[in-house]
Amino acid sequence: MNLPYAEPYRIKMIEEIRQSTKEEREEWLKKANFNLFNLKSSQVFIDLLTDSGTGAMSDKQWGALMTGDESYAGSRSFEALHNTVQKITGFPYLLPTHQGRAAENVLFSVLVKEDDVIPGNSHFDTTKGHIEIRKAHAIDCTIDEAFDIKNLHPFKGNIDLEKLEKVYQTYPKDKIPFCLITITCNTSGGQPVSIKNIKEVKELSDRYGIPIYFDSARYAENAYFIKRREEGQQHRSIKEICREIFSYGEGMTMSSKKDGLVNIGGFIALNNEEVFQKASNFTIIYEGFITYGGLAGRDMSALSVGLDEATELEYLESRISQVEYLGNKLMEFGIPVQKPIGGHAVFIDALKFLPNVPREEFPAQTLGLELYKEAGIRGVEIGTLLADRDPETRENRYPKLELLRLAIPRRTYTNNHMDYIAVALKNVFERRNEITKGYQITWEPEILRHFTVKLKEA
Ligand SMILES: *Cc1c(COP(=O)(O)O)cnc(C)c1O
Repeated sequence: MNLPYAEPYRIKMIEEIRQSTKEEREEWLKKANFNLFNLKSSQVFIDLLTDSGTGAMSDKQWGALMTGDESYAGSRSFEALHNTVQKITGFPYLLPTHQGRAAENVLFSVLVKEDDVIPGNSHFDTTKGHIEIRKAHAIDCTIDEAFDIKNLHPFKGNIDLEKLEKVYQTYPKDKIPFCLITITCNTSGGQPVSIKNIKEVKELSDRYGIPIYFDSARYAENAYFIKRREEGQQHRSIKEICREIFSYGEGMTMSSKKDGLVNIGGFIALNNEEVFQKASNFTIIYEGFITYGGLAGRDMSALSVGLDEATELEYLESRISQVEYLGNKLMEFGIPVQKPIGGHAVFIDALKFLPNVPREEFPAQTLGLELYKEAGIRGVEIGTLLADRDPETRENRYPKLELLRLAIPRRTYTNNHMDYIAVALKNVFERRNEITKGYQITWEPEILRHFTVKLKEA
């Protein structure tokens, strides 16, 4: 018999989590205005709201925390981080920030102006927010296959070269500061971009003189998929693949809360000294001095170790096979999920799961609330609430897919937890025909409404 798969680590410390009753959960949801972001974590049994900053650090990372250097300028912790980032990405310039969106804020303050357009593959919500708040526009050039949840395309995060070239032909060069490649592509399901596609985007963009930047929160997971799925990549190490990916870019923004394996932090890494210098000024205004950027020295030390661990094959294998394990269980129960299963999360197709809930009543949000009521599990809507309103017309934007995302924190839950989640969803699935009503908005903010929107039962 072949030996089954087992995690390449054992558990040294545990954190208690508590069950609640259905009655308690229904009460808590009302008080939370039916927005799962408003729940207390103590009201949640298994928290799949996000894989961002929710992972478990290793003993080596905890050890690194203790040796962090808290000097204001030029700390050893910064030096360690700088060396690791340079080793993994090849970019010579580093600016730490307090998280990924702060990196976007700093970099876009340098590069993005009113009326600019930024083509890319399904921009992340905060990324889009930072573009639109500057009165610029994000143009989605993701391949069409990404929006068909049954399509088994191995690289559904890829950019459609024709769509991209159309952007390059439609707008003058000085309106396109860069093309942004998100690895992995979050909105369409944690889906990877192939090295071949990145290379082709680079060649096309070179012809139009447009630089490439990476939104790299899950770059190591992207590299893992390249190793597993892309022709000719099997023999390469994850670190080699990462180096090649970044060699096609001028720079990157990073949320260290994902593939940095830490609980807070971000950074910008750059090739260009002039961009670095300008971004340094914004870092000082918004984040802190350029060798700490809103982070404690110990945060940078733990991040330096985390980046190294996250680009090791054994870690990535255990991480991604756990996400697949959950996805496969759900498929066995006939639950409609996005395929292939993404790197950090399982995405459930709410339009197919709850066909009786009208689109205007937020089916994916409705499914998230049902799952919480069923078993105390917190997922997140990736649908119309997240897509927000058009900044000009103020109409709801209905995305092609209405998804419930179950994001799996890194090194945090066991496969027993995955089994529990799968059965909870199966129970909701079995009573899906009785769920005919969704929710209505009673209050929402100007932008990024999903975090704070208030809802009532329709
Ligand atoms: C999380 C994330 C961000 C924003 O990072 P924060 O650390 O949450 O501010 C940006 N882009 C992508 C692709 C992300 O996953």
